[in-house]
Parts: sequence; structure tokens; C-alpha cells
Amino acid sequence: MPDAFLCDFDGTIAPQDIGAAIVQRFSAGRDAERRALLDRWRGETIGHREMIEAECRLLEADEAETLEFARRFSIDPEFAPFTRERWARGDAVMVVSEGFDVYVRDQLARAGLERLPWAANRLRFEGRRVTPEFPFYDPSCGGCGNCKAQHARGWRARGYRVILIGDGLSDRCGARAADRVLARGELLDWCRREGVAARPFESFADLGRAARGALDPLSPV
Ligand SMILES: [Mg+2]
Ligand SMILES: [Zn+2]
Repeated sequence: MPDAFLCDFDGTIAPQDIGAAIVQRFSAGRDAERRALLDRWRGETIGHREMIEAECRLLEADEAETLEFARRFSIDPEFAPFTRERWARGDAVMVVSEGFDVYVRDQLARAGLERLPWAANRLRFEGRRVTPEFPFYDPSCGGCGNCKAQHARGWRARGYRVILIGDGLSDRCGARAADRVLARGELLDWCRREGVAARPFESFADLGRAARGALDPLSPV
């Protein structure tokens, strides 16, 4: 059975959280409101979609300056080699992101990964006003903007074993729905608290070595 690697973007493929950095940079002076929203999301009072909608109301940015700012960041240089090795083995790789199309598309293209499938939330810019759109909103979840569980179910239905790779609380639904979880950061802590089996990983260099047989990232925890 081939594997489908569903990879979170911010904090996973990109070592830093580009989406959060954009929100912070372009909502200057609104720190208290931003932090309150994050706290409500962490406490599961609001879903990620609702948090993004509220965050975007705090933003003042046009598309060009958002993209220019996002280009200060880059992705893990081992991600593209990892992806190509997995493709060569007949596996699938997809980016599943609760971040935004504007920088996910750009960063993947800059890494030579234009043909890698990805799903993220969308930002619509009108002057310096920003409105989010959620093309992958799943009513059966109701909380996420782009629920990663639906992608896990979709790949499994197509005959793949689903491996979720992530670092954060926006990966929770995906982790519950996946066959295997590779986690770091807050996702790893959450998996341990919730009893969701997860194997720790450090970076795509680990996972690349694993693909070459040096270790098995998919063995039981
Ligand atoms: Mg993340
Ligand atoms: Zn969800």
C-alpha cells in the first residue's frame, strides 16, 4: 500500500510560522486582541476558521507587501529532496495548511515544487483590506478553516496509508484521522496528552534519511 504524506506547512515544511508572522506584522498595535483570539482558539472556545476571520479584520496589508514580507522566510531545504524521494517510491505527498495560499504557492514554486498538490485557506485583498476564504471548509468538522481530517479520509479512500506530519494544534483533526502521525512541538505534546500515537521527528532531514532506510519513521512509537 503506498503512503500519502500529508504535511503541515507553517512550523513544519517552513520552520517558522509564516502565517502567524504575517498576522503579527500587519496588525500592529492590536497585540492584545490577537493574543486573546489565540487563547480562545487554544482553549477550543473558537475554531481555527473563526480565529482567522477575526484576525483578518485586524490586518492592514496589500497582496504585494504580504508576499514581500513572506519572502523573508523559507522552507526546510530538505523538504524538496524528501518529496522527490517519496515520489520515486510511488508515494504521495500533499501540503495541508491552515495558513494562506499567497505564500504557500510562492514558497513551493521557489523550491521547484510547483506540481506538489496543496490545500490552504485563501486571502482576498481589496486595497489593504483582507478577507479570508475557506475553499476546504468541512461542515462535518465545523471548527477548522481547512480541516485536515477530510484530506486524510480522501487519501485513504484512494488506497493510501495516511501519514500526517505536523507541529501544531491546527493538526489535531488530521492527527486523529491519520493512520500514522509524525509530530513535533505542540502537536507532539497534544498527542501524548490525548493518547494519539505519534512518533517524534526533528526535521525533514530525519525523514529523508528514513526514506533511504537509515531508520523507519513509521515503526510503532
Ligand atoms: Mg504548523
Ligand atoms: Zn477539523
